Amino acid sequence: MHTSALVLFSGGQDSTTCLAYALSKYAHVETVAFDYRQRHHVELSQRLHVLNALRAQFPQWAQRLKDDHLLDVAVLGEVSETSLTRDTAMAMQANGLPNSFVPGRNLLFLTLAAALAYRRGLDVLVTGVCETDFSGYPDCRDDTMKAMQIALSLGMDKRFLIETPLMWIDKAATWQLAHSLGEQSGVTEGATALVDLIVEHTHTCYLGERSQRHAWGYGCGTCPACVLRAKGFETYNSPGESTSASLPT
Ligand code: ZN
Repeated sequence: MHTSALVLFSGGQDSTTCLAYALSKYAHVETVAFDYRQRHHVELSQRLHVLNALRAQFPQWAQRLKDDHLLDVAVLGEVSETSLTRDTAMAMQANGLPNSFVPGRNLLFLTLAAALAYRRGLDVLVTGVCETDFSGYPDCRDDTMKAMQIALSLGMDKRFLIETPLMWIDKAATWQLAHSLGEQSGVTEGATALVDLIVEHTHTCYLGERSQRHAWGYGCGTCPACVLRAKGFETYNSPGESTSASLPT
C-alpha cells in the first residue's frame, strides 16, 4: 500500500493538478522542482504562491503537504540549446519537434526525483506528462514512463510507482479534474476554490508573461501553451461539452 508521494511540481497548471491529485490520495506528499536556468523564472516563483495558497485554503491537504525541494540542474542548460533555456524564438525543428524540446529532460528529472524519493522514503512519483496535448515530446510518452519505472526500480533496487494522472486527458479534462478534486477536498465550494487558485497562481506561458490577466489566468495569450490553456478552459466552461471528467484510478 502506497502512502507517500513525491510530485514533480513546476508551478504550472498541469503539475498543480497533479499535486492536488496526490494530496487527495496520499497521507504524505512532498514536492520537487528543477532549476535549469529557464529563460523565465516566473514558474519557479509562482510555485511558492501555489503551495502557500493550497496550504491556506485546503486544511486537509495542508496536513499532508510536507517538504518542498528545489534541485539545481544548470548542467541541462550547458548541454542543450533550446528556446526554453536560451533567448531564441519558439519554432519547429526539421525533425518535427519544437525547439523547446530539451533532449532527455524528463528522464533526468525522473532520475533525480527517484534518487530524492529514495532518500526521503517516498515510493510514488507523480508527474504531469501527457500524450494528449503532446507537442511530440518523446520523453512524455506513456511507454517512456513505464520504461523509466522499470529502470529506476531495478537501478535503485526499490519498487517505484510512476503515476501520470494527466496522461490520457486533454486540457479541458485537466480543468475538470481540478474541479472534481476540489469538490472532494472537504472544503466548502472546493471545486471553485481549486480552479480559481489554478487560474490565479499557476503559470504556463512560454514567454513568462504575467501582466495580462485573462479568464483562464495570466499569459501572453498567443504562445502554444497559452492557446492550449485558454481553449481547454473555454471547453471546460461550456455547458454541454463533455470532457472525460472521471478521476483516474
Ligand atoms: Zn503565452
